[in-house]
Amino acid sequence: MKKENVKPFLDEIMKAMPEVTVLTKEEERLIYAHGCYPREYKWLLQGTYKYLPSAILMANCTQEVSKILELSQKYEVGIIPYGGGSGIVGGTIPEDGEVMIDTKRLRDFEINPINGTATGGAGLTGAEFENLLNNAGYTCGQYPQSFQSAVLGGMVSTRAIGTFSTKYGKMDDMVNSLEVVLPNGHVYQSHKCPKASTGPELDQLFLGAEGTYGVVTKVEMKIYPVAEKRYFEAYTFQRTEDALEAIRQFVQNHVHPAVVRLYDEEEAIPKLAEFHYEKDQVLLIVGYEGLARQVDLERELVNEYCVKNGGVNKGTEAGEAWFRTRFSTKKMLDYDATKGGTADAIEVAAPWDCIANVWREMRRALEPLCTVVDCHFSHVYHTGASVYVIFHADTQGDDYDGEKRYLECLDTAIRTSLKYGGNISHHHGCGKAKAAYLADEHGEAGVEVMKKIKDALDPKGLLNKGVLGL
Ligand SMILES: Cc1cc2nc3c(=O)[nH]c(=O)nc-3n(C[C@H](O)[C@H](O)[C@H](O)COP(=O)(O)OP(=O)(O)OC[C@H]3O[C@@H](n4cnc5c(N)ncnc54)[C@H](O)[C@@H]3O)c2cc1C
Repeated sequence: MKKENVKPFLDEIMKAMPEVTVLTKEEERLIYAHGCYPREYKWLLQGTYKYLPSAILMANCTQEVSKILELSQKYEVGIIPYGGGSGIVGGTIPEDGEVMIDTKRLRDFEINPINGTATGGAGLTGAEFENLLNNAGYTCGQYPQSFQSAVLGGMVSTRAIGTFSTKYGKMDDMVNSLEVVLPNGHVYQSHKCPKASTGPELDQLFLGAEGTYGVVTKVEMKIYPVAEKRYFEAYTFQRTEDALEAIRQFVQNHVHPAVVRLYDEEEAIPKLAEFHYEKDQVLLIVGYEGLARQVDLERELVNEYCVKNGGVNKGTEAGEAWFRTRFSTKKMLDYDATKGGTADAIEVAAPWDCIANVWREMRRALEPLCTVVDCHFSHVYHTGASVYVIFHADTQGDDYDGEKRYLECLDTAIRTSLKYGGNISHHHGCGKAKAAYLADEHGEAGVEVMKKIKDALDPKGLLNKGVLGL
């Protein structure tokens, strides 16, 4: 990154593309300086915000993004793509005063009902894209908790996932094709055929690359008719292990309700109290949607597996309440905003044969460092599931203590997951926060592959330097 070249770089952009808005005021740069990485909250509260981007470029179309990247090579200026800013792993920290490309003006939208797809500009939020689809009678089924802020390009780049994932899949399954601007400005557009046998799947190279291999500009997603019927219900079980076993059995028998959320013994406590259910249980919420007959059959099958494993059906109330409040993260934000406090959601994945150990040991390891540890399982697969551990800590100290405790909790959670057979991230990505652990998951050879691809696509290392350790 040649900081001295930022001014001539911006001058040439303004001359060549007057439609690109260039933001350089300090307050504008401060807004873009942070995403939702918990340490960024602490840096704001410490009052010494260290990293500001040199400028923000609001591009209107793929051609402008392409020209910006081409010029960034000429001037050797570092670039960070910025979507909704909801990333929580430090993927947009402008440590070298990089220039950011805000993608939110990339807002194309087109439906192809015959192919069952819709193409959206990378800057549409999940909610905007879904509303446009709903108006035409479709859904893509992608409802992350950050639905209102995360944009399509950001969700592709982090391999995001929504709460209805058991039916609709994760972002990696939902994408049919991508348009991506490479670091040298060339535009890659994948073919839209449903399957190919002509080399590796290149779209998957950009899914989860967190902007290190290119800037995503358009996303073609699979779409479905809006569901005829949606239904929620809850089960209680004696133990987390019993509920996990019921889930494993129905999923491995191809029974895929849309929502599967299991709260462990601790996280279930306030929910059991709220609905006046018996104490000392775990709570499973199951949500179904689709054709009415399909929903009814799935309910019947899920019920069989749950009852067989000791589950008791508690009716619709808890599931419907979850659905109404599913976007709320107030408890976590309260701890982040507290002087000396910190909180985060660490989400890892593990195979079925070790998932209970990963969950139990992560909880056990974090408890001494935290005020409250909540654990649930909300994404389930044929071979395993995710474990979602939310830690809330209050050091009673200052915001430097809060930051220090955050790093201790993160390290403890990740090392414990790896030790018991889990990974380092299920869907939040790696960013800069988890980069140091990447080789523990992928091995040195895996990291070498990622680095060699980076060197080939971006030899000067200008795009999202440091993210994924690249
Ligand atoms: C309250 C809250 C709830 C959340 N809930 C969920 C959830 O349910 N599921 C989930 O998966 N995640 C969740 N997240 C995490 C976050 O929303 C996701 O990681 C999301 O995909 C990030 O999208 P964004 O548009 O905000 O990306 P940003 O934060 O802007 O960027 C994230 C990364 O992607 C890169 N990037 C952004 N746009 C592009 C692009 N067009 N091309 C290339 N690279 C790009 C950035 O440089 C950065 O490295 C949550 C976060 C918060 C704060």
